[in-house]
Formats: sequence, structure tokens, C-alpha cells
Amino acid sequence: MNNKRQPSVLVIGAGATGILAGIKLPEAGISDVIIIEKADRVGGTWRENTYPGVACDIPSPHYCYSFEPWPWSSQCAQGGEIQEYLEHVAKKYNLLPMIRFGTTVVSTVYDETTATWTVKTDKGDVFTADFVIAATGILHKPKRPDIPGLNSFNGEMWHTAEWRHDVDLKGKRVGVIGTGSTSHQVVPELVKAGHETFVFQRTPQWVFPFPNLSFPEWMRNRWKEKPERMKPWKSLYKTFIEQFFVKATTGEPVQRTLLNLSSKAYLRLGVRKRDLREKLTPDYGVGCKRMVVNFTFYPAIQKDNAHLITDGIKGIEADGVRLVTGELVPLDVIVLATGFDNFAYMRPGSLVGRSGHTIDDAWKDGTYPSYHAVLMEHFPNYFLMLGPGTPIGNNSVIGMAEEQLDYVLRLMDIWRDGDADEIEPTPEAVSAFVEYIKAGLGESVWTSGCQSWYLDAAGVPVVFPYTWKEFIASMAEIDRRELTMACVKPCQQEVLHAV
Ligand code: NAP
Repeated sequence: MNNKRQPSVLVIGAGATGILAGIKLPEAGISDVIIIEKADRVGGTWRENTYPGVACDIPSPHYCYSFEPWPWSSQCAQGGEIQEYLEHVAKKYNLLPMIRFGTTVVSTVYDETTATWTVKTDKGDVFTADFVIAATGILHKPKRPDIPGLNSFNGEMWHTAEWRHDVDLKGKRVGVIGTGSTSHQVVPELVKAGHETFVFQRTPQWVFPFPNLSFPEWMRNRWKEKPERMKPWKSLYKTFIEQFFVKATTGEPVQRTLLNLSSKAYLRLGVRKRDLREKLTPDYGVGCKRMVVNFTFYPAIQKDNAHLITDGIKGIEADGVRLVTGELVPLDVIVLATGFDNFAYMRPGSLVGRSGHTIDDAWKDGTYPSYHAVLMEHFPNYFLMLGPGTPIGNNSVIGMAEEQLDYVLRLMDIWRDGDADEIEPTPEAVSAFVEYIKAGLGESVWTSGCQSWYLDAAGVPVVFPYTWKEFIASMAEIDRRELTMACVKPCQQEVLHAV
């Protein structure tokens, strides 16, 4: 008989990591699980982002749950196919009854007298839970640039994550502000559709050339027949990413040289006109900003209907974008490919932990301390998925979430075994984790002289600066000396053993 205590768990978000929690918690014997989802469908990022060209730049056989392979149609699946996959998994594992759709968490407050969280929603629901898992994703809050006159534009303007499919772009002059991974996917589609496309670049990006090959039908049929046939493909791509990309960014000289060479050679060979090539050449190290993985932007930006604008933006006016040179670029539509508020996580909802500590107190001045990217001081029994300190650059966040959730389940076992009601990292453990992350800074490429969301305001990486192997090893054991484990109910060892 399972004599573990039964916790109630509230999961915020039904994206890829929330779905994972919805599957793994019941599998571990935890049945009291509620998932709160602001939208009316699962999917997170892949539901929200529907811009033309949206695709995953991580190979799909690796960008899926290890226990749920899928006969992907191409090496880097389109957003729509990933959304279909996530909806399929949610249905297959019967998650829909546990999800409260169309509901947004507005506040999450800890009660230290009962060691429980009270979660309120915009619908007026009030939930009490022993554990909260914030499966909200990292980059979900679109960032609007602080460009003067942004609201004075007379045409249509939208962020890439809020694509306006109702606006016909035919014959329109379209401006795209920003040249990150998203812009590299959307610009080629706009150019291909024949729209006059004006790309406003503040900082050029290094591009790793990676063609999106389609998997032939016979291969997909074989995968459909026997999904385990996908396994070698998953391993192949996983190995490629871990042995090449991760090592290149975390300090291995051979991989770093190869990454350098491939991006520089691609720019040299892929962009014929010297002046355009110079405009597209970054002045910082390859991999410093998140690598753009792409094979369509360079061909597109060389087309006659594509215009790369590198003069700074002075402001936005009723008819278009005014450059610092004084020139006005007349536009009908402006697309903001300006990224996301880095590290919004559970915000804008409020989070109040022990003794009235808020998340804004914990993450102040643009820094994001955590313990193993999962726990935070002052927020007992509150777990982050893909929290600050996760190795999120150019790798499968789904694979990482699986590792983190396994760690979370082992932490929950402390509570379930009746050893503690509250699990929280000690201040020393949080400081040590932050120092550990800082120590990896020197070897990583992220400090080679660029602005990026990989660094916090103090220049500390908010991504794990070591290898995948070290990431897994760091969570292999639970070190109880680094946790404050208190009993408030009181702990029920005797009660349990009497059952
Ligand atoms: P991003 O990488 O943050 O890029 C934002 C772009 O907007 C940058 O070029 C930035 O210029 C520019 N920008 C911001 N404010 C500006 C201003 N005031 N004036 C002019 N330019 C401005 O955003 P993103 O492209 O949406 O990508 C965000 C993240 O989403 C990626 O790093 C990646 O993790 C993820 N993503 C993943 C995929 C995938 O396939 N897996 C695809 C797309 C996105 P500066 O560089 O000068 O700041």
C-alpha cells in the first residue's frame, strides 16, 4: 500500500511544461492536480505564436517528450504541427478534465501557518494547494519597444506573438522592427509573398545555417507503424546539440571554432553583395546572443522587395518610421519582432511568499536568483519550470523540463514521506548556486561583448553556463543540508506509519 501523503498541486499553464506536469504527477501517484490555463487551448508558445514562418529551430525529433515520439514532417517542425502534437498528447493522457481553461492566475500567496498556497484567479476562484508549479514559460509577455511615437502610427501595428491574420498584406509596405530568431523566420515569408519588406536592424545576428529538410512520407509511415523507430533520430539530434552547440557556447575550443567558422563562412558565401554583408556582420563573438538557426533569411534579404535598414530609428510617426538620418520610411504596417520581457514567468500575476516577500523583492534590479533553477528562497513548496539557471539556449526545453520535473517530484517526496511540510532553499544554497553560475561566465561566449537576454542586469548569465551532463549531474542528488525543511502541521511521520 502506498502510504505517502497526498498533496494538492496547482500547475500554472498548460504549455509544453504544464502538460508534462499533468502527465507525470498522476504517474507518480499524485491525483489532486489542477492546471490553470489562461487561454482556451493547451499549447503555450506554440498556440500564441502563429506568425508566418513560425517553426522550431531545434530539431523536432529532439523537441518532444522522450516518452511520446511523433512522426514529424520535417527536421524543424512548423509551429502548427507542434501545436497539433501538444493537443494530441494532452488528449491522449486525458489531461483536459484537469485543466481550467480561460482562467488567469492573478495572485498566489503563501500561508505559513498551514504551509499552503492560496491561488486566486480572474474568474474569482480561490484554490488552496500544498504545491504550486509555475509552468508559465519564460518568454511569454511580448515586449513593445520604447520607441518615441510608437502609438502615433496610423497604419496597423502588431507584435509577432499577436499576429493579425485578419489584415490582408497584399500591396502593403511592411516594416519589421528587430532581427532576432523570430524576425529571421517571419521576414522570408513576407518577402516570398511579394510584400515590400523593410527590416529595421539595430544589431546584426550570427546565423548558423541549418536547412529545414522534410522527412519523406515512407520514413514517416515507418515511424507511425513503430514510434520507437524514432529513438535513434532523437539520439542523433540530441547528441549533435549537446556535443556541438552546448559545448561551443560553454567553452570547448574545437566546437567554438567550428561554430565560428560555419557562421562566418555562411555569411561570406550566403550574402553576395559586400555592402549588405558588412551591414549583416556582427561585431561580437559568434554565439554571444542566442544563435539564429536559419537557412532562409539571407536569401530573402537579398531579394529586390527586401530592404535592410541599419540607420537607427528616431521615432515612429503617423506615416512610418523616421530614421536618425531624418529620412522617413513610409509604411502601411509595422510588425514588432522585438522579443519578450525576459523572465516574466508568473508575472504579471502577483506572488507573495513567506513573511510577505514578493517576487519583485526576490527578483529585483534585473537579477534572478534561484536554487537549481527550480526553487527560490522565501517561496516554500513553489517550483519553477525552466527557471533562471536552466540551460535554455539552443536546446530542447522539453528535455530540460523532463529533468527538472523529475527533480521536483523527488523534492515533493520529502513532503510526501512526512519529513517536512515546507521545502525551501537556504540563503547560503541560493548564493552558492548563483556563484556556481557566475563561475561559468568566464568560459561561456555570452560575455564576449553583446547585449542579450541571456544575461541579467548584473551581467550574470540567467542560463546554465555548463554542459547538459553537468546540468543533470547538478540535480542528481537532493542535498538536504541546502534545504530549510520545516514542519508546521506538524509533520506526520507517526500518523503515516500508523496507516
Ligand atoms: P529577440 O531575440 O529578443 O530579438 C528582438 C529584436 O528586436 C532584436 O533584434 C533587438 O535588437 C530588436 N529590438 C528590441 N527593441 C528594439 C528597439 N527599441 N529598437 C530597435 N530594435 C529593437 O526576440 P525574438 O526574435 O522574438 O526571439 C526571442 C527568443 O524566442 C529567442 O531568443 C528564442 O529563445 C525564442 N525563439 C525561438 C524560436 C525557435 O525556433 N525555437 C524562434 C523564435 C524565437 P538588439 O539585438 O539590438 O537588442
